[in-house]
Amino acid sequence: MKPLVAIVGRPNVGKSTLFNRLARRRIALVEDIPGVTRDRQYWDVEYEGRELTIIDTGGFVPGEKDSLLQQVREQAQLAVEECDAIIFVTDARAGLTSADQEVASYLRQSGKPVVVAANKLDSESQSLQAHAAEFFRLGLGDVFPISAEHGLGVGSMMETVVGKLPPLSPEELEARKKAAEAEERAERGEEEEGAEEAPAEEEEERPIRVAIIGRPNVGKSTLVNALLKEKRVVASEVPGTTRDPIDSELKYKDRQVILTDTAGIRRKKTIAHRLEKFSVVAALKAMERSDVAVLLMDATEPAVDQDAKLAGIAEEKGRALVIVVNKWDLISTDQRKQEIFREELKHALKFVGYAPIVFTSALTGSKVEKVLELAVELADQFRYRAPTPQLNRLLKHIEENHPAPIVGRGPLRVYYMAQVGTAPPTFALTCNRPDGVPDMYKRYLTNQLRKTFDLRVPIRMLFRERP
Ligand code: GDP
Ligand code: GDP
Repeated sequence: MKPLVAIVGRPNVGKSTLFNRLARRRIALVEDIPGVTRDRQYWDVEYEGRELTIIDTGGFVPGEKDSLLQQVREQAQLAVEECDAIIFVTDARAGLTSADQEVASYLRQSGKPVVVAANKLDSESQSLQAHAAEFFRLGLGDVFPISAEHGLGVGSMMETVVGKLPPLSPEELEARKKAAEAEERAERGEEEEGAEEAPAEEEEERPIRVAIIGRPNVGKSTLVNALLKEKRVVASEVPGTTRDPIDSELKYKDRQVILTDTAGIRRKKTIAHRLEKFSVVAALKAMERSDVAVLLMDATEPAVDQDAKLAGIAEEKGRALVIVVNKWDLISTDQRKQEIFREELKHALKFVGYAPIVFTSALTGSKVEKVLELAVELADQFRYRAPTPQLNRLLKHIEENHPAPIVGRGPLRVYYMAQVGTAPPTFALTCNRPDGVPDMYKRYLTNQLRKTFDLRVPIRMLFRERP
C-alpha cells in the first residue's frame, strides 16, 4: 500500500506549486486518460526509494459558502482522517497567521506525522531564513524553509516526510523485491518465472479484495448490506491479511471475498462529509489494496464527471472494474431503456470499455448477486497467466491476418510476446521499433489479447527492443 501524504494550508501559500514540483518525481506507468486526469489532485511519486501518493487537498473545490477558515479546516480534516502524513504549507513571507495557528492546533491533536513547510523563502539570506523560525511556535516540530517555486529545501523536507511514515512490512518488502525482479525480466523480454506451473491452489486460497466505491448516497452501504445478509460468514482468520473495521468477509462459491465499503470510512468518522472529495480519497485508498473495484452510480442522478473520475482511478491503478448502475428500480423495467443507458454510459466511459456493466437495485436485491459473481470472475482474470504457446500462436495469427503497420522506413516486426506480470496482466512484446508502435496497433493488439483470453480487466503492454 502506498502511503497517502496530504498537502494542506491556506489559499495562496503555494500548495499547488509544491504539488507540481513533487509531481516531477512521479512514477509514470500509464498514459493520461483524456478528460479524466486533467486538474488532478493526486500523483504517485517516488522519494527516497519509497512510493507514495501525494494529494493536494487545496485542489478539491471547496464549498462556495464556506469561509476561508472552514475550507482550510475541511482540508485538514480530510488529511488527518485519510492520510498517513501531512505537509502543512505556510507562507513565510506573510508570516504566521491566526488561520495557521488554528489549523496547527487541530493537526497537533490528531497525532499524525506533520512537517511544516515555510514556503516562499527563495534565497538563503539570513533575514528570510529568520522568517521560518517563528513557525516553530506552531508546536508541530520540524519546520523546513523551502521555495516550492525554485525547489529549494524540498528534498530534505521530503526525506523527513518519508522518515516519518510507518516502515514497510515484511510482506511489502517481499512484494517489492518480486516487483523489481519482474521489472528486470520484463526489460529482458523474458516471461514470468514459473509462469508454466502456475501455483493455482495458492491463488485460489487467497481472499479476493473488492473495494466498493462511488459518490456519497449512490447506495454503497445498502449494496454491502444486501450482499452480507445472505453470504456473511463468521470471520475466520485468514493468515497474512490485515483487516480493517470497515472490511467485511463473505464466501461466494467457496471463494473468500473481503469487501471494503468506502462509505463506511466516511460514516465511522464524526464529521458529516458532504463533499465528493472524500469519495475520491477513500477510493484511492481502498483501491490501493484491492483486486477489484465495484463502482456504483445512481441511475436517477448520473454524474458523469465524478463517476468517470473514479473509473479513471481504477484504470490508472490497473484494477479490475465492475460498473454498477444502482437504483434501477426507480427508472424502469423496460429492457430497451436499459440498453440505451448502457450505450450512453459505454460512450462516456470509453477508456474502461472492458468493464462489465450491471443494473441493480440494492434496495430490492435485484441483480446484487450478479455483482459478486462478476467480481470473483474478474479477480481471476486479473491474476490470469496466459500460456506462452498460445501467445505465440496468437502472434502468428495476427501476422497472417493483419498487415503490420509501417513504422519509420519499414514494417513493424514483433518477434516475441510474453506475459511478464499479473494483476493486471502485463505483456512484453519484443519488436524492431518499440518507440514507434502506433496507438491504433496497440489497441488492436490489446483487443486481440482480450478476445483470445477473455480478459475484461485492464491490460498493460510493454514494447521492448531485442536485447
Ligand atoms: P495555493 O493556493 O496554496 O495552491 O498556492 P499556489 O501554489 O497557487 O501559489 C500561490 C502564489 O504563490 C502563486 O503566485 C505562486 O507563484 C506563488 N508561490 C508559490 N510558491 C512560491 C515560492 O516558493 N516563492 C515565491 N516567491 N512565490 C511562490
Ligand atoms: P452510500 O452513501 O453510497 O453508502 O449510500 P446508501 O447505501 O447510504 O444509500 C443512500 C440512499 O439511497 C438510502 O436512502 C438508500 O435507502 C437508498 N438506496 C440505495 N440503494 C437503492 C436502490 O437500489 N433503490 C432505491 N430506490 N434506493 C436505494
